[in-house]
This record gives sequence, structure tokens and C-alpha cells, in this order.
Amino acid sequence: MKKDKILVIGACGQIGVELTLALRKMYGDTNVVASDLREEHELLKGTGPYVSLDVMNKEMLHVLIIRHNITQVYLLAAILSATGEKNPLLAWHINMQSLLNVLDIAKEENIDKVYWPSSIAVFGPNSPMQDTPQHTIIEPTTIYGISKFAGERWCEYYHHRYGVDVRSLRYPGLISYKSAPGGGTTDYAVEIFHEAKEHKQYTSFLSENTYLPMMYMPDAIRATIELMEADASKISVRSAYNLSAMSFSPKEIAAEIKKHIPEFTISYEPDYRQQIADGWPNSMDDSLARADWGWKHEYDLAKMTEDMFKNI
Ligand code: NAD
Repeated sequence: MKKDKILVIGACGQIGVELTLALRKMYGDTNVVASDLREEHELLKGTGPYVSLDVMNKEMLHVLIIRHNITQVYLLAAILSATGEKNPLLAWHINMQSLLNVLDIAKEENIDKVYWPSSIAVFGPNSPMQDTPQHTIIEPTTIYGISKFAGERWCEYYHHRYGVDVRSLRYPGLISYKSAPGGGTTDYAVEIFHEAKEHKQYTSFLSENTYLPMMYMPDAIRATIELMEADASKISVRSAYNLSAMSFSPKEIAAEIKKHIPEFTISYEPDYRQQIADGWPNSMDDSLARADWGWKHEYDLAKMTEDMFKNI
């Protein structure tokens, strides 16, 4: 029997750190190779093998996969929504080429499974905003969303044409305390906790009633691993599954924070990220993920807020 050997690409990012640690617990420390462009994250040090890797270098990636007998790849390296708008061509290049490098090597080397995340950013202003369905109008307006939508199509193509077992989730905005967010439009929902604790005040870059789908990191990590562990016969979507837990606005999260820090105040100075958020869903319908492989979220706004303040 072939032993699982996992490569995480982009392991030092907001998701990568926690996902790598969770995978090491499940598969054994030495069976999960972490890699990133950046220096090894503090929380990963001493927990397992670490390799410096630029995923854009296909030859290096190929050699790494062969040398370590990799059987599963988690590709998390990407340029996120807000950063992407500052340099659209770079974001397109990195987000697409990294995925094509991984998919193509997976095909050649018969990699067992590939994970690559998509995002709620695939949706655009013409998609239904409430309970956005799995299958609907998809007309993204940010380069990040365009690259995620194209990536979803490539994943489905590699699955149908070459049999690559690639799986994907459309993550909502992710809230965490272990590793900092990397330049997304939902980053405010992480910053607000730190500012509330340190300065009792936060200026939001999104307006008070901007509702976005959100999820606490432990739920996102569990969803990712549950999807990857599910029997292939249960996976009916080979582009990317809608995934959902909660939806709130800056005003609502501020009210929840006030329950823990009564003197906390919030003000609003929307910037260029407001326009990005305005094109995204307010909430998502993830019934297909729930029906196909049993997805169930655990954290709502109140439970997440409590846990964040326990840990930051
Ligand atoms: P992040 O920016 O925090 O981390 C990405 C990591 O990739 C960084 O550590 C970066 O150094 C690394 N990286 C960038 N270019 C690289 C390269 N060429 N070679 C190797 N490593 C490289 O991002 P994240 O929030 O952890 O997101 C991970 C994935 O999840 C991305 O695909 C992102 O689009 C997706 N996603 C994230 C969210 C969220 O709220 N965090 C929401 C939806 C989708």
C-alpha cells in the first residue's frame, strides 16, 4: 500500500500554517512537507520538514514531488483579492500558472489527490446576493475572482480529461488568530479583534452594512480535510463547492465585540475594497457540500468571537 505523503505549497500563509499543523497531526509530522517562498513561519518551526519553493518554477516543483514521493498536494499559494487589484497581470500570472504547474505534474506523476481553494470572489454583481446558489450567473469583476473562476474550470477539465482527483472549496472570508491574513477584502474581520483588544477602537475599510459570508478558521480547516478524506464517489462537484458558516456586517461584528469590550467603538472609512465587497455575495447556499460529503459548520459569530478573545 502506498503511504500518504503530502506537500503543502504556501504553507506560511493564513490558511497554510494551520492546515499544515492539522495535517501533521493526522498523517504524522514527517509525512507533511511544508513549502513557501517566505521564511519558515514561527509556528511551523520544529514541527516537520520545510522546503523553500517558488511554485512558479515547475522544474523545481517536479523534482521536489518526485524526491519526496509526494502523493497529495495542497496548493495554497496565491495573490489575494485586494493585493491582486494593485497588480492585475501579476495576480493572473501567479494564480493561473501555479495551478497549471500543479495540475500538470499531478497528471504526469499520477498524484493521488490535489487540493486548490477557490473563493466567493468567483461571483459578481449579477449573481444573486442572498444564498448564492452553487450554479448561477458567474461574472467576477476582480482579477482575483476571474483567476479563481478560470482555475475552477481548469480543475474540472483536468479531472474529466485526465482523471486528476482535484478537489476545491469556495472559501468565504476566513477569520483566524494564529497566522495573519494575506491581503484580502475580508481582512477587516481579523484586524478588528486585535484593534479592539489593543486600542478599543477600529476604523473599518468596509461600510457598516456590508454583509459578507465568513467562516472561523477551525471550520475551514476541518472542511478542507473532510473534503479531501471523502470517498471520491461522493464528490459530485469537480470545479469548487460553495462553503458557508455565517454572514455578518462590520456593524454586527462590532456589536458582538462590544459584549466582551463594552468601551469598544467603531468608525467607517470605506476604501477601494468596498467596491470589491459590493460585488460579492452576502450569504451562500452550500447545501450541495452538506448533502454530498456531510459538511456542517460549528462556529457562528458569537462562538467565534468568544474563542478569538480567548486566544489573541
Ligand atoms: P496568504 O496570502 O496568507 O498565503 C499565501 C502563501 O503563499 C504566502 O505564505 C506566500 O508567501 C505564498 N506564496 C505566494 N507566492 C508563492 C510562490 N510563487 N511560491 C510559493 N509560495 C508562494 O493566503 P491564504 O489566506 O492562506 O490563502 C490561501 C488560499 O486560499 C489562496 O488560494 C486564497 O485565494 C484562498 N482563499 C483564502 C481566503 C481567506 O479568507 N484567507 C478566502 C478565500 C480563498
